[in-house]
Amino acid sequence: MIVFFNTLSGKKEEFVPITPGKVKLYTCGPTVYDFAHVGNFRAYAFEDLLKRFLQFMGFKVIHIMNITDIDDKTIRGAKAQGMSLAEFTRKYIDSFFSDLKTLNIAPADGYPRATEHIPEMVAIVRRLIQKGYAYEKDGSYYFSIAKFPAYGRLSKISLEELQPGQRVDVDEYEKESVHDFALWKAKKEGEPFWETEIGPGRPGWHIECSAMSSKYLGDTFDIHCGGVDNIFPHHENEIAQSEAASGKKFVNYWLHCHHLIRDGEKMSKSRGNTITIPDILKVKNNPAALRLLLLSTHYRKTLNFTFKALDQAETALERINEFAGQVKHGRFPEGESEAVEKIIREAENRFRRGLGDDLNISIALTALFDLIKKINVLISQEKIKRKDAERLGRFVDSMDSVLAVVSPTRKTRIGETIPAGQTDQGAASPDIREEETKSELKPEQLEKIRLREKARAEKNFAESDKIRAELAADGILLEDTKEGVRWKVVPVPRRPA
Ligand SMILES: [Zn+2]
Repeated sequence: MIVFFNTLSGKKEEFVPITPGKVKLYTCGPTVYDFAHVGNFRAYAFEDLLKRFLQFMGFKVIHIMNITDIDDKTIRGAKAQGMSLAEFTRKYIDSFFSDLKTLNIAPADGYPRATEHIPEMVAIVRRLIQKGYAYEKDGSYYFSIAKFPAYGRLSKISLEELQPGQRVDVDEYEKESVHDFALWKAKKEGEPFWETEIGPGRPGWHIECSAMSSKYLGDTFDIHCGGVDNIFPHHENEIAQSEAASGKKFVNYWLHCHHLIRDGEKMSKSRGNTITIPDILKVKNNPAALRLLLLSTHYRKTLNFTFKALDQAETALERINEFAGQVKHGRFPEGESEAVEKIIREAENRFRRGLGDDLNISIALTALFDLIKKINVLISQEKIKRKDAERLGRFVDSMDSVLAVVSPTRKTRIGETIPAGQTDQGAASPDIREEETKSELKPEQLEKIRLREKARAEKNFAESDKIRAELAADGILLEDTKEGVRWKVVPVPRRPA
């Protein structure tokens, strides 16, 4: 059983999709008036976790994420820079897609843009006019909240103070100014506009999501996500417009992600403490660790972003990667053991149950780390057999289909310590395994390892240390073991700009 906390009911509910085996998911995408910051990507990472978990549980997920490329903020920005709207938004759209890729966020099935769906928006406004929910004032159209008694159910606002007929024209406003909101804004000097059946103008922000979600997912769909900031007015207004127009329930489950703060403070432009994904990677170039950090706080808790927390995520990720490398690339004797199978089964159950309980990531990650701890003990006791290792490898892959952070560390034996006197034939060293070396090290790096072996054999430790340091700078860490030298390839941190 899967349960999610539904903002609409204010409690955890069992998740039952409309069509068995299929989930229709809509997530509010970026408003492309600036580079998205890490707080925005916290929400996108949470949505990715949700989607990957549903897929892991066997659901087919149809995911639509809109791009708001016209609203008050994009128009203001384009005007300030003397650019057309398309010209102005392009670089923010490009950087958004590039950051999604960096964070290994699986692509949605569609990224509809508001400017390409004006007729669909106009059609909804017209239906709302026909049904008596919308009215015109000076060429703009407004939604009459008094006509929709369910208004406020999602955000739990009180409508007692509501003055019928009072209007709000801006896209974003506080709960104190709950008023009839703009569906369509009349043409204004210096603003982009469309000639339509309801007159010249441009859409309000909220109608955009109502139009694009129903076009691609139908009048009623399963899950709608966003940040808590979206609950009011954006999502409240989406519900009002969509349900008034279609006469049907709009969305069954509303999931909202909480804020990300930075060093204990709210992140905002006015404080000057917003930070983007590329900014963070300039300091620490480890996107997978950043992804793990974004995922590892439960989505309904505030996440405090600090570089120290990112270091900790990196350490945790290294543990997973080393473990994955060991079970995937290590050599183990033939056989299998029941104990390992039991450990895996337990971990799988905890992982699934944890995420199935409103995406409780702590339980899921603890299940994984407990398994690593137990298996590492067995490895040190040489109790892991080949079949066990294969099973563990598959376990890691299946967990990672949800987490999407693992890249197994290669820690491969490349040769016995070469006895002195034979080092000149180093190139023919019998234990170098071609298929592994090719994919990992360049020939000149392999040659360096050989030269270091030679230096060590000749007790020229100054030379061998120098080569070790050179390789380390390339991210190749050497380890001398009784069986020979092993290496590990680690990401090389980029220097802060
Ligand atoms: Zn939206």
